Amino acid sequence: MTSQNPIISFSLNKQNYTNEAIKNTKKFAVSIISENINTDIIYTFGYNTSKDIDKFKDCQQEDYKGIPVVTDGMCSYIVCELIHTIDCETHDIFIARVIDTKKISNEKEMNYRYYHEVVKGIAPKNAPTYIEEKVSNQGETDLASNENEFAKYRCLICGYIYDEAIEKVRFTDLPEDWKCPRCGVGKENFVKI
Ligand code: FE
Repeated sequence: MTSQNPIISFSLNKQNYTNEAIKNTKKFAVSIISENINTDIIYTFGYNTSKDIDKFKDCQQEDYKGIPVVTDGMCSYIVCELIHTIDCETHDIFIARVIDTKKISNEKEMNYRYYHEVVKGIAPKNAPTYIEEKVSNQGETDLASNENEFAKYRCLICGYIYDEAIEKVRFTDLPEDWKCPRCGVGKENFVKI
């Protein structure tokens, strides 16, 4: 938002635990992801909630005066202090003062374009950039007409691709309690691509 007196803004879904945590502590750190990150870290932090798991349990981190900061696979981090919160219906817009920064590596920072096109990830459901995808019945018709061909299915929540040619098991033959190996949702969240 500003340069000489650095202030940043971002929005967070009200249903996210992080939203509540920032309002309570008014202090937080933002880690800038590098293109070389182990993507498991993205899935741990992006597709889970701290209500259920300790996201910090297995990743490299630093303690900045009591604020836990993820450094695993990161280029840098920014430490902030909340100064305003603006209600934006489903989300809140947070405005925060940058109180410190640290460069961790010389790796290139990952942007959303790289995340979509190279990592093949999609925005988590509560993200401001999330777009709902509609499931069509077209896939079933295609499968019936190409019984010998392998198909691919994509998780609508995290973007994980289930490739029958690699797995050697038809998606439809997977047990009903099968879960997406990346984000843990059930088969009903997959669509044939
Ligand atoms: Fe998934």
